[in-house]
Amino acid sequence: MKYFESVKEYLEFRKTVTDKKIGLVPTMGNLHEGHISLAQRSMEDNDFTVVTIFVNPKQFGPNEDFARYPRTMQKDGDDLKALEMRVHKKDSTKEIILLAPQSINEIYPEGFSTSVKVNGLTDKLCGLNRPTHFEGVTTVVYRLFKIAQADRAYFGQKDYQQFKVIDRMVIDLEIPVEMHMCPIVRDQDGLALSSRNQYLTPPEREKALVLPRTLKALSFLIERNPWSQALEKVTKVRAEALRDSKWQYLQFLDADTLEEINDNTRTILIAGAYQARGARLIDNILVERNA
Ligand code: AMP
Repeated sequence: MKYFESVKEYLEFRKTVTDKKIGLVPTMGNLHEGHISLAQRSMEDNDFTVVTIFVNPKQFGPNEDFARYPRTMQKDGDDLKALEMRVHKKDSTKEIILLAPQSINEIYPEGFSTSVKVNGLTDKLCGLNRPTHFEGVTTVVYRLFKIAQADRAYFGQKDYQQFKVIDRMVIDLEIPVEMHMCPIVRDQDGLALSSRNQYLTPPEREKALVLPRTLKALSFLIERNPWSQALEKVTKVRAEALRDSKWQYLQFLDADTLEEINDNTRTILIAGAYQARGARLIDNILVERNA
């Protein structure tokens, strides 16, 4: 595994790479099995996997957890080395490059004044409660794309809207990178893994299971009923669920466009955000429309 703390050093290295495929896995660190699954997938597809660790201040709102976001560089490095060792048992040519810029200036040099904003897709779902979030995400991911110069990039379905927003940016700005979405990794109890889960006390966590459980129940209804019949049932379940004011949203949308479901909808996105006391949690399920 190679380790770079400076973008300049990475760029020197990058110049030496000519005939290898590079996969990029952008993260904010505090790695868990969800992140590792993205890196593993990238290692299967590419010669080099660039995992970036950068807690991006631009994607946090003023009252959010930027200052206390868990930073666990030593363990993250160890976990990536362990992954590399596992992969090497099958193929020792694959390599991880950990790029962990140590200062915000590395990504946003003095005077940096540009931002990348995708319109439309960012106005809904998480965009309603976090109005500046996606602009921060697309700005940092654009920078990381330019720096890493990767062939492919890997993101989790966990942040489905984020994937769609970045994908839109890639299309609109003709960024030469292939986008890949990887499945959500969950704990045994069904809660999607997230660095923020550790902010929850055990009773809060138990309560927060209402998020994956509700999404699952809704997806069953959609799978097992023609949409015309499912609609009535899911509307009822949704209304019942929303009596708990901790839900920030619980929505069914066309997974492709993030617009309302219509006759052309093939895949339905069921997405929810739940504000537990310690952490705001998001989750989603994709389900094929049944007739
Ligand atoms: P983060 O460090 O939270 O910015 O996440 C970095 C990447 O990991 C994003 O593409 C996330 O969607 C992805 N990710 C986070 N949690 C999970 C999970 N439970 N399963 C799969 N991917 C995840």
